[in-house]
Amino acid sequence: MRQAHSIVLASTNRHKFEEVQTLLVPYPGIELIPANKAIRNADKLGLFETSDHYYDNCVAKARAANHGCHYPCLADDSGLEVDALQGRPGVKSHRYAIPRADETQDQANNKKLLEELKDVPANKRTARFVCHLALVIEGVLVHTIGTLEGTIATEIKGAQGFGYDPLFIPKGFTQSLAELGPQKKNEISHRATALKQLMQEMKAKDIVLARP
Ligand code: IMP
Repeated sequence: MRQAHSIVLASTNRHKFEEVQTLLVPYPGIELIPANKAIRNADKLGLFETSDHYYDNCVAKARAANHGCHYPCLADDSGLEVDALQGRPGVKSHRYAIPRADETQDQANNKKLLEELKDVPANKRTARFVCHLALVIEGVLVHTIGTLEGTIATEIKGAQGFGYDPLFIPKGFTQSLAELGPQKKNEISHRATALKQLMQEMKAKDIVLARP
C-alpha cells in the first residue's frame, strides 16, 4: 500500500492549480502543493513538453517533478481539438498564436481561432477539450484521460475561466464555459473526468488517500 496525502501539481498555470484544488475538495485527505513550493526550477517544467503527444508530456512533467522532491507529483497536459482544423491546435494549444505586446497569450489564441474559423458554419464548428493526467508516486505511474465535447462560438462570451473557455460551448449548453462559471465547469470538464478516473485508478492500485 502507498499513501498519498500531499500531492505536488507539476504546473505553473495558476488556473489549472485552482481548478484541480477545487476538484480535490471531495477528497479531504489530500493537500495540493504548488510546484514552486516543492521543487527548484518549477518554472522550467514546461521544457519537458517536447512531444506531440499529451501522454508523453504529462508523464515527463510528473517524472521530472517527482525527481526534484519527495512528494507524489501530478501533471496535466491538455488542449483543444477543433474538427474543422483537423485537430489543431491540440497538444500545441498553449502556444497556438504569437501574442502582440498588448495581448495576453489567451487573447491572442482566441483571436486566432476565431479568424481561422471565420468561414466555418455552425454545424461544422465541433471541438473537444482533452486532458491527460499523470501521477507518479514512488515510481508507480497512474495515467488517465478526460474529454469534453462541444462547439466553438463565433464570438468571445463570458469572463470566467481561462484559455479557450470564452469560445467553448459544451454539448447540451448554449453558454460558453466562461459564462457557465467554475461550478458547472468543474462538474463536466475534461479535467474533472480525468481526475475522477485517477482517483479510481489510485484505489485500484492500492494507493490510499489519507492524512499522515
Ligand atoms: P498545457 O497543458 O500547459 O500545454 O496547456 C494547455 C492549453 O490548452 C492551455 O494553455 C489552454 O490554452 C488550453 N486549455 C487546456 N485546458 C483548458 C480549459 O480547461 N479551458 C480552456 N483552455 C484550456
